[in-house]
Amino acid sequence: MEKLTVREFDPQGKRVLMRVDFNVPIEDGKVKDDSRIRASLPTIRYLLDHGASVVLMSHLGRPKGKVVESFRLRPVAQWLSALLRMPVPITGDPLGVGTRDAVARLKPGQVMMLENLRFHPEEEANEDGYAKTLASYGDVYVNDAFGTAHRAHASTVGVTRYLPAYAGLLMEAEINALSNLLEQVKHPFAAVIGGAKVSGKIGVLNHLMDKVDTFVVGGGMANTFLVAKGHTVGKSLLERELVEEARQILDKAEKSGVQFILPTDVVVAKEVTRGAEHKIVPVTKIPNSWSAVDIGPASTEAFKAALDPAQTVFWNGPLGVFEVPTFGDGTRAIARHLADKAENGTTVVIGGGDSVAAVEELGLTGKMTHISTGGGASLEFMEGRTLPGISVLLDKPGEPVAEVAQVVATKPAMAKVRPTKKPTPTMKPTPTKKAPAKKPTQAKKAVAKKPAPAKKAAPVKKPVVKKTVSVKKAVVKKPVATKRPVAKRPVAKKAAPVKKAPVKKPVASKKAAARKPVAKRPVVKKAPARKSVPARKPVAKKRVSRKPAATKPVAKKAVPAKKPASKKIAARKR
Ligand code: ADP
Ligand code: MG
Repeated sequence: MEKLTVREFDPQGKRVLMRVDFNVPIEDGKVKDDSRIRASLPTIRYLLDHGASVVLMSHLGRPKGKVVESFRLRPVAQWLSALLRMPVPITGDPLGVGTRDAVARLKPGQVMMLENLRFHPEEEANEDGYAKTLASYGDVYVNDAFGTAHRAHASTVGVTRYLPAYAGLLMEAEINALSNLLEQVKHPFAAVIGGAKVSGKIGVLNHLMDKVDTFVVGGGMANTFLVAKGHTVGKSLLERELVEEARQILDKAEKSGVQFILPTDVVVAKEVTRGAEHKIVPVTKIPNSWSAVDIGPASTEAFKAALDPAQTVFWNGPLGVFEVPTFGDGTRAIARHLADKAENGTTVVIGGGDSVAAVEELGLTGKMTHISTGGGASLEFMEGRTLPGISVLLDKPGEPVAEVAQVVATKPAMAKVRPTKKPTPTMKPTPTKKAPAKKPTQAKKAVAKKPAPAKKAAPVKKPVVKKTVSVKKAVVKKPVATKRPVAKRPVAKKAAPVKKAPVKKPVASKKAAARKPVAKRPVVKKAPARKSVPARKPVAKKRVSRKPAATKPVAKKAVPAKKPASKKIAARKR
């Protein structure tokens, strides 16, 4: 990966502002599926174990710029508190004096959360003042929210105007898994594309056309292709206006020698509802008043056979209306087949919210090579698009490029949220090797202008990075279309908060702690030796005094010890 990660700065004593994707389903005040929360744990633990304090921020749902009680992140903070076995206080608002004070009180090894970022319209508008206030909560910014990396919001893009920006471990894993598919893939490479509509997948089909050996296409979108081939599809979901486009895609595949496998038989139903009358018919005989809701058994076998030689498979989109169990046979059969293949060494990557849900329901997530936590983001990535939240992260330095280096060296330090005395070594030029003739990418500019991490904290060490020349270019080719940072005068600390909102009492110390005894103070293990955290040199021994771990363990039931096999199981356990 060509982006700097959390491993490339020294977290000791730093306050890290970390964007996570905690947009998880919540029902009756409880987290229904915590996979996104668990996915962020390696980065959070890494930072805490290495002496940082962590201010987490996320959105939840679509509150459209207003406070919506059902979109409060409190249940997430409680869940995280149980997972981390330490208090995770949450503020009542992302802004306000109370929030600022809570951030200021945070000590190394402690973690807190901001309330739902989208309670303010400024988040999605990527408003500069909002971004600046958020940035004032940290010395360093880490983005681990791959799921929102396709959105240029204040917390994904705006903050990087003010803080040095690094990728979290999840972000890194996502970028690596997906960019491998686009750049270093092992052939034969097959893409299974399904889902409701062609319109949502045209970008992926076109971008993968010269990369895959085989397309396997099912789901509602297959109908438009079937019509392009001269069939009729009855009442099935069809995008008539895209039939011509579908025909062109079929032509392109034929000309490029790409296998394009469509269903030969389908399950048709009188209604697309549970319990509806249904039968299997060949695609040449779809009755006028019926809808195709799943691939048929002959298609399932043909799909499996087409996937057999594949060394790499990317799957996006269910092959039928799998939410109705009777119409989920094709999806389940292909999921199992891919899980078997993955166990036998094939690289299998699943992207897309519904496809991932289907795999989770079957308890097969652990078998796949990579399950993307980003729905829209993974799709946009596979379309070859630049994701704004990724392109603004700091680039790994490559070979120095004289021209760029000079520009960087002569730039004045830009506006800081809190003034610092001198620029830290982090701000040193990190020119990349790529295309010296090209304009510097925004990331490079951002490097040039980034303020030194404010405050008295020990200066950020210069990233200890080898001169990596990554072959992965798809991720960040273009600068993001966001406002360029303009050098401003440092803003006084007090200018930041916009709204008042007293910080609520720490979640964990309220309900959670009432239920289960949790250590009053975070417990930070001295020897970070977690599997997910790559080995690194030991951190400085200087530690803020911490209380020993609570003698009583956190109630075991609070959190499933292992990742639940499926959402349903997780729900039952709760
Ligand atoms: P993903 O979230 O994995 O990218 P999509 O959102 O594109 O997948 O598509 C998932 C939806 O497609 C599901 O809600 C499923 O019911 C629907 N779908 C699949 N096959 C059909 C079909 N034959 N007719 C109508 N809808 C379908
Ligand atoms: Mg979907």
